[in-house]
Amino acid sequence: MADVLPLVDTHCHLDLDVFDADRESVLERAAAAGVSRILVPALNRSSALRVIALAEAQPHVFAAVGYHPTEIHETTSADIANLGELATRSKVLAIGEIGLDYFWVKDESERRAQRQALLAHLVLAQRTERPVVLHLREENDAESGSCSQDMLHILEDWTADLRSDNGTLAQRPGVLHSFCGSVDLALRAISLGFCIGVTGPLTFRNAENRTRVVRALPLDRLLVETDAPFLAPVPHRGRRNEPAFVSHIADKIAQIQSRTVREVAITTSANAARLFGWGASV
Ligand SMILES: [Zn+2]
Repeated sequence: MADVLPLVDTHCHLDLDVFDADRESVLERAAAAGVSRILVPALNRSSALRVIALAEAQPHVFAAVGYHPTEIHETTSADIANLGELATRSKVLAIGEIGLDYFWVKDESERRAQRQALLAHLVLAQRTERPVVLHLREENDAESGSCSQDMLHILEDWTADLRSDNGTLAQRPGVLHSFCGSVDLALRAISLGFCIGVTGPLTFRNAENRTRVVRALPLDRLLVETDAPFLAPVPHRGRRNEPAFVSHIADKIAQIQSRTVREVAITTSANAARLFGWGASV
């Protein structure tokens, strides 16, 4: 299979029950498509336990632990700190998926709780030397707004702290996953050391903003991710997504940046290996 691309999927919710009936086949199709590493982020504590069990059973699957911003509810900073014992397991390579979601959460006190939870996760990441997988969604799906502003301020403070701390995270603080913000925000995040995650909507017909972002960014800061089972790329749009489809995203990046898909696959896989420390592609 000489023309199989060396790919990774840096964000896939493989633990969700929509994969229960055929998870093994999904993993086989991923391997056949050249996908040698899959990162599965958690949404809350019980999902973290499922994700870790999956990662410990499957050599090519790795885990992230954390509370998704829409899953914060009654979660306290102590609950988040208590993820520390899970975060240091050998197959757990990141803290995620964490962040800010002002699309589903309109109430100002709940948004404040999201910001506090994000700060607690960043403390955990620093303590366990795990990079962060960040979710960011503006109110009304705008390209920029208060969610981006709040995120940027928090990340500026945190990365300044990382730099004075002399740890390894200053060079690999994390990724802004399924990025749909402005070029300006992407460039600022990159200047702080972050990678930018690219998902299936880049292949959609109305992807002007995401296309602009990919065109403006250096390839050595991009990651490809499916966010499966959501966001299936063309030609699978509207159906269940899976890691094998990540090649369609690499293909679209190659078109936009006038490169070969092989170069995109090799470089984005190396980017992911640097960020998560999971070794070169096999
Ligand atoms: Zn996700």
